[in-house]
Amino acid sequence: MFKAEYQCPSCGGTLWKTDPTSRMIGCPYCGQNSLLNAGDIQKIGYQAPLVDYGSLIKINQRIKFQKLDLRVLGRLRMEFEDGFWDEWYIEISGMKDHTHGWLQEDDGTFTLFIEKKKITRPVVYKQIKVGKHSDLGGNWTPIFVTSKNKGKVFGGEGELPFAVEPGEEVFFIDGLDQGDLVSLEIMEDEKVLMKGIPLKWDEMVFQS
Ligand SMILES: [Zn+2]
Repeated sequence: MFKAEYQCPSCGGTLWKTDPTSRMIGCPYCGQNSLLNAGDIQKIGYQAPLVDYGSLIKINQRIKFQKLDLRVLGRLRMEFEDGFWDEWYIEISGMKDHTHGWLQEDDGTFTLFIEKKKITRPVVYKQIKVGKHSDLGGNWTPIFVTSKNKGKVFGGEGELPFAVEPGEEVFFIDGLDQGDLVSLEIMEDEKVLMKGIPLKWDEMVFQS
């Protein structure tokens, strides 16, 4: 297994990078966020450790689901008008074409999101109507929009594939593409269409 040791630039605590794609690491001891760059570690911002609201998912946890082996690398917390939303960065084993994804937990329902494609043409968030079909990226089959939300990055912890920038605005457009769950995430520098795979609770095996 991949493993690289770093020292937290703030408290000196030992940090482990356990996935080659990780670009940011949050110190579990002091809350310092640092950027990882070719063996180098650099402070990018402090944040108090995220408060846990009783999530069933934890960093470093392994979850088996059918043929998939999931390992939790980190957590990204988004802030919305009515509260927080966590997305867990996941290393996936056993899936053709995808090695990483994001796991969402919503009232005991789990959905694993994997990247379908990056969208380059503009999407005007304001013009997207919930309850209507929209072509979103233009050249796809129309997507039935089920909800849309505007949020802000609140913080992160553990290992993440990018530097977390608290306050950055993110727009989410969720929908159905011929029965498949999809979510378009619009960030400052990219738009990514994700496909959601519902994980049935009774087929998930949590391992410590
Ligand atoms: Zn530290």
